[in-house]
Amino acid sequence: MTQAALINDGATARPVMAGARVLNAMTVDVEDYFQVSAFDDYVPRTSWSSFESRVCRNTERLLDIMDAAGTRGTFFVLGWVAEQYPDLVRTISLAGHELASHGYAHRLVYEITPEAFREDLRRARGAIEAAAGVPVLGYRAPSFSITRDSLWALDVLVEEGYVYDASIYPIRHDRYGIPDWSRHPHVISRRHGRIWEVPGSTVRLGGMNLPIGGGGYFRLLPYGWTNRGIDRLNASEGRPAVFYLHPWEIDPEQPRLPVRLSAMTEFRHYRNLNKTETRLRRLLKEFAFGPVSEVLNFGPATPANPILWESPKTKRLSWD
Ligand SMILES: [Zn+2]
Repeated sequence: MTQAALINDGATARPVMAGARVLNAMTVDVEDYFQVSAFDDYVPRTSWSSFESRVCRNTERLLDIMDAAGTRGTFFVLGWVAEQYPDLVRTISLAGHELASHGYAHRLVYEITPEAFREDLRRARGAIEAAAGVPVLGYRAPSFSITRDSLWALDVLVEEGYVYDASIYPIRHDRYGIPDWSRHPHVISRRHGRIWEVPGSTVRLGGMNLPIGGGGYFRLLPYGWTNRGIDRLNASEGRPAVFYLHPWEIDPEQPRLPVRLSAMTEFRHYRNLNKTETRLRRLLKEFAFGPVSEVLNFGPATPANPILWESPKTKRLSWD
């Protein structure tokens, strides 16, 4: 099937407003500094428990920063983290934020089988829901690893009752991306149902999609890159941005790995860690942000809201 046949891009044509401003999505991928994909070659999963964990204090600091700005967001929690620190998951939820899943073991989707993916999804959701007692409706793959080679993952997500996915980045990158994918939140129809896709944010420049959605792009490039990019999406295109960040990105004191990293990995992970918090505080003042469910304008699960209505996960939920 062609991409055009899969996509109904009209589903979120009208942006949700916060006063006069477009509401953008604030998202956090809750994982520890040693769990990033770039360290996969150096840090076996069996050794995770032996590292000094910083995820709770860093996430709590992010919660404080967002609280000070009156901002709520979506926290995609790694299942392994939820299992180790259920109180953290509860704290996030009680502070009024939305919980979603970042998978269990931070495995790249295009490197595992559909069966293993389903297992990973179930284990993560089980841990997050057990910790907080609220339903998990959204998913983001580790390192945006839903690519052309792993679009089957969308079918698994639909079957597992997910309402939205935030795993596709419509850019060219060495580890992820589908450069010609739709750039704004949209509905994808698959064989067994529909799902919202919430792609990482880009602006069009010189016929290319350039990433402005957070993470390394926020930390490594000047602040104006993100600021102007979001402004352009909101003002010129009338569309929401989807911004993402990791708790370890505001932690310049995090322990360094006891191995020699490649210059590129070193640069991407450690550069400007001391600048992120100040930039984030500024960003939260300059734009309006909320959780993904509000940007997608989830209402009650009624027939008028078909994706929620059809999802086996939300059918029995009361949204009043
Ligand atoms: Zn991650």
